[in-house]
Amino acid sequence: MKIAVYPGSFDPITNGHLDILKRALSIFDKVIVLVAINPDKKGTFTTEERVLMIKEAIKEMKLENVEVDSYHGLTVDYATKHHAPYLIRGLRAVSDFEYEFQIHSANKFANDNVEMVYFMAKNETSFISSSMIMELHHNHVDVKDLVPHSVYKRLK
Ligand code: ADP
Repeated sequence: MKIAVYPGSFDPITNGHLDILKRALSIFDKVIVLVAINPDKKGTFTTEERVLMIKEAIKEMKLENVEVDSYHGLTVDYATKHHAPYLIRGLRAVSDFEYEFQIHSANKFANDNVEMVYFMAKNETSFISSSMIMELHHNHVDVKDLVPHSVYKRLK
């Protein structure tokens, strides 16, 4: 059974994240969406809220073979502990590539047994990021078509 971990901040989860998740599920038997806790990064939502919104979105979309968890520490350590030696990441633009390339090298340095798998963003969702959602929302732009209902209702 091939199990992958999809780590991220998910602050909050967006339709961009969900597109990557759906596509990963067509390749892996199970995907664990992992809210990576970073105490240095002050987020918009608490870890518990992020986990809850992801769980609700999965239910909403009737996705199967997905688990949601949170973790404080290296994602490669989490992946090893959970027998899920693949990490999923999404790539939107060249700017993502530089950051992801650095994470890839660091992860490989920490644990070479974990492989990273990348999905390219679709055109329709390539401009979506959690911070862009919050900025649009704070400036009174309706983000209904960019996030799952679980997130939209909390923003309201
Ligand atoms: P992090 O703080 O770890 O980057 P994010 O929640 O911002 O966490 O993103 C998690 C992963 O999902 C990253 O690999 C990011 O590039 C990817 N991602 C985020 N939004 C999109 C999108 N709209 N399309 C494709 N990938 C995305």
